[in-house]
Amino acid sequence: MEGNIERIKCLIIGSGPAGYAAAIYAARADLKPVVYTGMQMGGQLTTTTEVDNYPGYPNGTDGTAMMEDFKNQAERFGTDVRFGMATKVDFSEEVGGIHKVTIDESKVVEAETVIISTGATAKYLGLESEQRLIGGGVSACATCDGFFYKGQDVVVIGAGDTAAEEATYLANICRKVTILVRKDYMRASKAMQHRVNKTENIEVMFNTELDEVLGDQTVEGVRIFNNITDERSELDVTGVFVAIGHKPNTEIFKGIIDMDEVGYLQTKGKSTKTNVPGVFAAGDVQDKEYRQAITAAGTGCMAALDSERYLGALQ
Ligand code: NDP
Repeated sequence: MEGNIERIKCLIIGSGPAGYAAAIYAARADLKPVVYTGMQMGGQLTTTTEVDNYPGYPNGTDGTAMMEDFKNQAERFGTDVRFGMATKVDFSEEVGGIHKVTIDESKVVEAETVIISTGATAKYLGLESEQRLIGGGVSACATCDGFFYKGQDVVVIGAGDTAAEEATYLANICRKVTILVRKDYMRASKAMQHRVNKTENIEVMFNTELDEVLGDQTVEGVRIFNNITDERSELDVTGVFVAIGHKPNTEIFKGIIDMDEVGYLQTKGKSTKTNVPGVFAAGDVQDKEYRQAITAAGTGCMAALDSERYLGALQ
């Protein structure tokens, strides 16, 4: 392993809006950042089609193209973007200590600061038809994709705050929104349920689950079943929004970086500082509340500034 060790100032793990925004700022501050992209280069946005809500793109843009722009901008200032997965971390607990991160189980990068922007992954049900039609009418993000279903009928799957919020958001755009709830109650907060109940074009179907998404290239409907009576029926919808939660990508930080019960990394106050000096967290990996590209990019910028200040204070 000896010859396979590299020492750098700033390592950024993850290549979504948070990682690249951090890279742009860190590169301009001369921290010579290295970004390891993870398996999904560009992050979650590359799984959506159009992005219409990111300021600066008046005509909207394609999620993948937008992340290519982010990458190009980071590279323009000297960021070294590499394809690879962080598979193990050995963080120093000392202020000014060196953090070791193993990439692809082989190479070790030693870094003075680390910015974790590994994001979160939307959970899906796992049905073959659902997986096949992701991007073709199946989505896990109403704020990203809802607009494309203007005046149409859609279903939302889930019963938590996200499902309730996505359904009320979609109800403003779509003709009808049906929420499929597998139990006989919703887990969402009372306030959110109240909003759902008083929205005229939302129907909640309890004890109801998705059996199959219908359609070859795009969603043409769904087959559902009542899990008490086993009765099957079809709904004529063009959009399927899966809102059954997200999983932060934080496996390798367990027991090292403070996280909440679900695994979201915890940051201090309004900063991106974690419990480990010199290790910062930005983007969805530390945010279960907003989860937008713009908010992720904002915290990426903060993490680079926090890194710069941390290194500056050591001198
Ligand atoms: P949750 O984990 O709270 O809810 C997930 C929901 O998905 C549950 O109702 C669960 O059903 C359902 N579900 C899970 N798996 C399946 C499945 N296979 N089939 C059908 N349904 C399934 O996730 P959320 O994303 O809703 O919320 C995460 C956190 O973020 C929560 O703490 C929430 O309060 C918070 N949040 C807050 C918001 C706000 O305050 N504005 C907005 C959005 C989220 P079941 O109940 O049967 O287990």
